[in-house]
Amino acid sequence: MFTLSQFPLPFAENALAPYISEQTVRTHYGKHLATYIKNLNDLISNTPWADLPLHEIIRRSARDENARKIFNNSAQIFNHDFFFHCLHRGNTRNIPYDIAVYFGGADKFRTQFYSAALSVFGSGWVWLTQDMGGFKIITTQNADTPVVHGMRPLLTLDVWEHAYYLDYQNRRGEYIDAFMDNLINWDFVVENMNL
Ligand code: MN
Repeated sequence: MFTLSQFPLPFAENALAPYISEQTVRTHYGKHLATYIKNLNDLISNTPWADLPLHEIIRRSARDENARKIFNNSAQIFNHDFFFHCLHRGNTRNIPYDIAVYFGGADKFRTQFYSAALSVFGSGWVWLTQDMGGFKIITTQNADTPVVHGMRPLLTLDVWEHAYYLDYQNRRGEYIDAFMDNLINWDFVVENMNL
């Protein structure tokens, strides 16, 4: 029987402290993400969905009103896998030149990404994406993900409260600052770019 297992966390649980605490990582990865994986396995076991790879489950369930729970859980698994790979204690390098130039400078990119992350009402995500037209900063609500909208994700920040509440309570701006100044894995962003 098909069972989706949890991808390994790409860093130690305490690796992001003090910007994101060990307790937050343990809860986020070990409880929230683990629950999405358990839910998806429960929803699709012994159904035709179980024969599909994760990206196909996401793509097909996004267009199927009767598969809303399957979409929510499968998209959240992808989003979290992607998000955890975006994190690295001590930025790995500076913002890539092409991205900085596109936004009119590193500071302008930072301001736009920060504002977008702060603007998400309720639960969601902020993304740097790439498509035919260039780079875009977008936000998505709940489990929604750019891969079902024809956009290539390069970078994301989880702005669900569970991602920061233990460390920052209601101060989402401080969490966004900590991410942008100390935790972006730019090497992963470059790996995702279509050059
Ligand atoms: Mn999350």
